[in-house]
Amino acid sequence: MQPSDFPPPTSLAEQFPPEWERLLSDWGEPRYRALQIFRWIYQRGVQNPAQMTDLPKRLRDKLTDGGLAAPAHVAQVQASADGTKKLLIELADGKQVETVLIPRGSVAEDDIFSPDGDADDAQGEYGDPAYAAGAQEITQCVSSQVGCAMGCAFCASGIAGLKRQMNASEIVSQVLLGRAALDASSRLAGVVFMGMGEPLHNYNALARTIRLLSHPEGMGMSLRRITVSTSGLVPEIDRLAKDFGGQVQLAVSVHAADTDTRTKLMPVNKKHPLSEVIAAIRRYPVPRRRRLTIEYTLVRGLNDSEQSARTLARILRGLRAKVNLIPMNPVEGTGLAAPDEPVVERFQEILRDEGLDTFLRRRRGDDIAAACGQLALRGEARKVRTLPLV
Ligand code: SAH
Ligand code: SF4
Repeated sequence: MQPSDFPPPTSLAEQFPPEWERLLSDWGEPRYRALQIFRWIYQRGVQNPAQMTDLPKRLRDKLTDGGLAAPAHVAQVQASADGTKKLLIELADGKQVETVLIPRGSVAEDDIFSPDGDADDAQGEYGDPAYAAGAQEITQCVSSQVGCAMGCAFCASGIAGLKRQMNASEIVSQVLLGRAALDASSRLAGVVFMGMGEPLHNYNALARTIRLLSHPEGMGMSLRRITVSTSGLVPEIDRLAKDFGGQVQLAVSVHAADTDTRTKLMPVNKKHPLSEVIAAIRRYPVPRRRRLTIEYTLVRGLNDSEQSARTLARILRGLRAKVNLIPMNPVEGTGLAAPDEPVVERFQEILRDEGLDTFLRRRRGDDIAAACGQLALRGEARKVRTLPLV
């Protein structure tokens, strides 16, 4: 999907340069201002027209009157003892989402987010002034919706359902605010859509966001440093494959080795059953020297048996994929818990013995509830589905 194929923008802040050009020429302004404005927003992270000091006052006023404004601001910052930072982001209508800045571990194989074969593009690709050899690399986990409609049994984000979609400027704003919150020795190395929401359930906004983040006149982030995590919306996985040629890193939340267990954990499995999800994963055009990510949250007594591990290995056989095992992070009221450590280790061992590269995902930001699935809507009544344990 190229910028020209998108549905019209829903706000000024999410316009591509050609859209800015059209608007500016309607306003009788020179077209070259388009890139100037775009760079202010995406290179410098300035979304308030009053601060765009090299634009004439007349144009700044027009932009303000036309509605260009920061779509979000940071309402609160929490820092974890392990270096993870969680930002509470408030949108213009007062709705809140969270984004998490996660320092990459130095032990490569322990690092859940590192895509494969990407060492060649590591240097200074965002024109980021903070870039320096040895800078701490940060992966930012971003939200794509306010709440989530998918209602997975173990996830805090889905508890209150979907409150509303986010538009691209709101999603990108999190990244701009996150980048601004980094200290001088850190550098934003990539973005993962693993915050609140199901990114493929907000496809057009997601695709526009990816094109904005990767735009060469903006942040210039390479597509391979953008990871989309999905609960398995099959048509949209295919769309992502077609629109970005497989360059965007795909992570799929599989979480079960058989379809009945998956339905218990993830209601979306009724619409897109495990076999169809696996087929879509197999069709995804993974570039050479890279791999997909399979996510598997381990839930005690449900999907953690040795038999599940063997079945999982069988259904993934031959796939160029690595498996991230995530012992379930506690979410109050779900009645679900992580398996004991020996069970987790045994599960990993079986997958490894079956030839699958399998990593145990380190918990980050535990003390500030910034770990996977702990990003909850504030102030929402905790309506929890109880899971029939059989
Ligand atoms: N909606 C997308 C992306 C956001 S969730 C998806 O489901 O893939 C990111 C990851 O966190 C998913 O793999 C999700 O299953 C996992 N997750 C959710 N709740 C969790 C919990 N309580 N413990 C561990 N992982 C969890
Ligand atoms: Fe939504 Fe992902 Fe949470 Fe499921 S795990 S409820 S898809 S955010």
